[in-house]
Amino acid sequence: MRHVGNASSIHSAGRKARAIVEDSRKALAALCHTDSKNVIFTSGATEANNAVLRHFSDVSVIASGIEHPSVLEAAPNAARIPVLPNGVIDLEGLERLVHAKSPALVSAMMVNNETGVIQPVEDIARIVKKAGAKFHCDAVQAAGRIPLDFHAAGCDYMTLSAHKMGGPMGVGALLVAKGAPPVKLIYGGGQERRQRAGTENVAGIAGMGAAAKNADIDRYQKLALLRDRLETEISGITVFGQDAPRVANTTCFALCGVAADTQLMALDLAGIAVSSGSACSSGSVKASHVLEAMGVDSDLAGCALRISLGWTNTAADIETFIKTYNKLKETWQR
Ligand code: PLP
Repeated sequence: MRHVGNASSIHSAGRKARAIVEDSRKALAALCHTDSKNVIFTSGATEANNAVLRHFSDVSVIASGIEHPSVLEAAPNAARIPVLPNGVIDLEGLERLVHAKSPALVSAMMVNNETGVIQPVEDIARIVKKAGAKFHCDAVQAAGRIPLDFHAAGCDYMTLSAHKMGGPMGVGALLVAKGAPPVKLIYGGGQERRQRAGTENVAGIAGMGAAAKNADIDRYQKLALLRDRLETEISGITVFGQDAPRVANTTCFALCGVAADTQLMALDLAGIAVSSGSACSSGSVKASHVLEAMGVDSDLAGCALRISLGWTNTAADIETFIKTYNKLKETWQR
């Protein structure tokens, strides 16, 4: 934030800013095992997802039913790939759909943001390529948590967000493979190789680069022990996606008969920040479309919490959570 130069200016202040942007681009490319030429910075994952999905909106698009709203709302006519009850995308369902629709684009995420379930992206890519379609993968919840390889995953486009990997909010990136059609959402100046107009958010991009350099998958894997303890020491809950491969920091569970909002507010008063599995829009609480796609009963889905651990969480934090939750549970179930 100390550097006031515009990264597109050729004076020395501008060149300093440009060096910061390019250094971050290299760091992000290294994290995803790709060339920095393939990285386009955006205002976040929402913009990156919109750029891809809007580009293909006039042709047939297929997206999984558990995608983030920035995919599903940007492609309202997309046919939905079914999902198995454990939260994993149904590969046979995908194969059937690809055969029936001959899509130009398939969008499927790498890790679900509500359940933490890791998707079989390489298998998905194989089916998509065989059908001659392009493959977009929202890898927002995977970056920094599991190994990420843009090319080995078979992607044509990949979306990333800084704030899900320890960077600042309001910055993200779209990776575009060589040969994939350019997907332009924002028109104006010639920034980002003419693929994303607008003066670069140098401070945000610097933060995303720092997050990429500091990404530590082992540090994340250690959270699985804490997450598993949390799930086993709270009795009577239904954990979603528990038998599927999951990222280490996420758990989504429901306590039958106790509305998610009631749980969320009581935990907040106790100093614990969690999310509900349902999304609140225009004042009305809707059951999570992810749990719905997994076939979870809507009453149970309305009682679902989403808990994300961060790498600074300790065993003592988990102990506090378990004690607090178990005490609250007694009052809710009295
Ligand atoms: N995709 C996924 C899977 C997410 O979890 C999120 C944010 O929660 C987004 C996209 C949107 O990211 P951003 O906040 O950078 O727009």
